[in-house]
Amino acid sequence: MTGQDDWEPVARSRTYELVLTRIEQLILDGRLRVGDRLPPERELSEMLGVSRAAIREALRVLEAQGALRPRVGTGPDSGNVIAAMPDAGLTQFLRLHIALAHFPLDDVVEARAVLERSSARLAAERAKEEDLARMREQLDRMDAVGLPREVFNDCDTDFHVAIAEAAGNRLVADLTVSVRNAVRQTLLTVFHRVEDWEAVAARLRAEHRAIYDAVAAGEAERAGEAVEAHIRSVHRDIVIPSLSPVP
Ligand SMILES: [Zn+2]
Repeated sequence: MTGQDDWEPVARSRTYELVLTRIEQLILDGRLRVGDRLPPERELSEMLGVSRAAIREALRVLEAQGALRPRVGTGPDSGNVIAAMPDAGLTQFLRLHIALAHFPLDDVVEARAVLERSSARLAAERAKEEDLARMREQLDRMDAVGLPREVFNDCDTDFHVAIAEAAGNRLVADLTVSVRNAVRQTLLTVFHRVEDWEAVAARLRAEHRAIYDAVAAGEAERAGEAVEAHIRSVHRDIVIPSLSPVP
């Protein structure tokens, strides 16, 4: 038997979400492009048959996502303009998403292995001298004796990011950076827990050099393999043992 509690009014679909869906569809269809101006609020509200509050809410969401440049002034040119997403937008969003979604660490490592393998292969084919210099800079910093583990971890992240960015495929790079950044804190925790830090650091330095050498030599297959082996073995040999509860 159902009681009165079961028949509470259902939440009405939120109007601003319908507005958002409509605008997103126009963007996906290519009918709204970067630089295009949206009609003014009042016109939108009349055309779509919804309240101005719903329009404003939808515009606020698009603005927060970076898809819309906020309007300036009140003249005829004051409509909101569709903006190119900033580079950082996707990586920040994904990093937060990965952090909040609590993906199992194994899944994140698997994703890293796939993405970074592909990044390293592309980097071996496309890296310019300045990209290689950026990678070497991080390697040299990680060579410093007595470097705090936190700084080492930052350099490690930057090294992987430099490879991803040298790959020249921005979508792969953004995904790689987000996933790498998502494990930054976990890796730092692990770095602080390992007893023989110098041995771990030496191993990481050697593996990074091997990756770099393959990228610099333009050997795509070897570069991809080296980075994937690095990610998987660090996870298996260093991360998992440090995170498992002491028996
Ligand atoms: Zn590394």
